[in-house]
Amino acid sequence: MLPKLFARRFSASIDANKLTVLRTTSPKLKLPNEKLVFGGSTSDHILEVDWSEENGWEAPSIKPYQKFSIDPAASVFHYGLCAFEGMKAYRDASNNSKIRLFRPELNMARLNKSMARLAFPNFEGESFLKCIEELVRIEEPWIPKGEGFSLYIRPTVISTYPYVGVTPSKQIKLYVICCPVGPYYASGFKAVKLLADPARIRAWPGGTGNTKVGANYAIGIMPQKAAAAKGFAQLLWLFGPNHEITEGGTMNQFFFWRLPNGKKELVTPPLDGTILEGVTRSSVLSLARQWGEFEVSERIINMNDVTSAIKEGRMLEAFGAGTAAIVTSVESIHYDGVDYPIPVDPISKQNIGPLAKRFMDTLLDIQYGRAASPWSRLIN
Ligand SMILES: *Cc1c(COP(=O)(O)O)cnc(C)c1O
Repeated sequence: MLPKLFARRFSASIDANKLTVLRTTSPKLKLPNEKLVFGGSTSDHILEVDWSEENGWEAPSIKPYQKFSIDPAASVFHYGLCAFEGMKAYRDASNNSKIRLFRPELNMARLNKSMARLAFPNFEGESFLKCIEELVRIEEPWIPKGEGFSLYIRPTVISTYPYVGVTPSKQIKLYVICCPVGPYYASGFKAVKLLADPARIRAWPGGTGNTKVGANYAIGIMPQKAAAAKGFAQLLWLFGPNHEITEGGTMNQFFFWRLPNGKKELVTPPLDGTILEGVTRSSVLSLARQWGEFEVSERIINMNDVTSAIKEGRMLEAFGAGTAAIVTSVESIHYDGVDYPIPVDPISKQNIGPLAKRFMDTLLDIQYGRAASPWSRLIN
């Protein structure tokens, strides 16, 4: 007889070859493009993979979108043991039936990093990506047509371990749902006012700021609500006695300014553990370095640097970067009782700065296949 160890069908990785598909027999009604609200509706199918300490990864399955039945003792409900990702599928601009993903391997790597931080198991990125690609091919009719429209893909992982104790999870569920979405700012671009409030901290050294774990977002909602009540779109998150800038809302923060020596610089905070390593951040930095037209830096910047640049007329633009909106220009920062205005686009008044617009256009061209790039992956 085999020892018990060998009798178990333990699987250390997700096996895309074992993917099963059950298609819905009652497709949902699709909203017209103009009715799409970001994250407000979901598509017809869900991809699910369960993991347990005993069996490892089970076979992945795609099935009709449905509710879960989860034990109320599951640790996701008590200790926030969950993490997520955000990525998009785009229709190719010249051949509408072709589907593209944008640097999806980075989302897989980041999900693994978030999962490691929660003491969850890891998975092999390309293999799970194959399952996601199959889901997206099945949901092809759900990818809205038109510039700026896409299918938002939301991989999520939760602990389903039914144990009321703070301990590593022995049971998790990884799943993927999809939301048809339009351009983040449907009626033209919108520049935002940020509130820089040193009393609120999003992330700290040794914490979880560099991962997409649910807890990071739970603690941001109350400060965001308070900022919104005062007329600010988002918090500019600060850290430390020098009020170092970390992120703007749930986007990576960039400043484009003239240094005191007159040189132009695009600068964003470094990946010191408090910053989420955005796919858009990394793409903006790569493009700027390829262009080679100004300095590109990842370094610590504090509020004094920002307010000095504004007061001395050296601030050219500020913007946030992230998958959902791609780039969002900042028109002012409220700090220590003072409103600091930032130039947006005094000439065309499009509510997006010229450099932010250039990143937006370049990234859209790649995402929709108008510009050839290894960052865009055809999946059908
Ligand atoms: C997701 C996220 C970003 C942006 O990451 P992208 O990969 O560019 O979408 C930036 N900051 C925070 C805090 C985030 O959660």
